[in-house]
Amino acid sequence: MTCHELVEFLIEYAQGTLDPAVLGAFEHHLNVCPDCRFYLKSYEFTIRIGRASVLGEFDELRTELPEDLVWAVVASRPVAV
Ligand SMILES: [Zn+2]
Repeated sequence: MTCHELVEFLIEYAQGTLDPAVLGAFEHHLNVCPDCRFYLKSYEFTIRIGRASVLGEFDELRTELPEDLVWAVVASRPVAV
């Protein structure tokens, strides 16, 4: 699996609906690719931010996070999906 393919499967992985036949390759790639590990983390973090802002818990979330991490997430977001 390539980094590009991993990104395409990311949403299904995060939702727990990824095809078991693909899951092995996905997790193997994560094990060997720090870039994708970081990308996955930032993706999950972005979902958390979205959820927190909807629930009005954003201030709470923001105080528990270092600001440089927030900016790293913003910077790593794909331009087009
Ligand atoms: Zn990768």
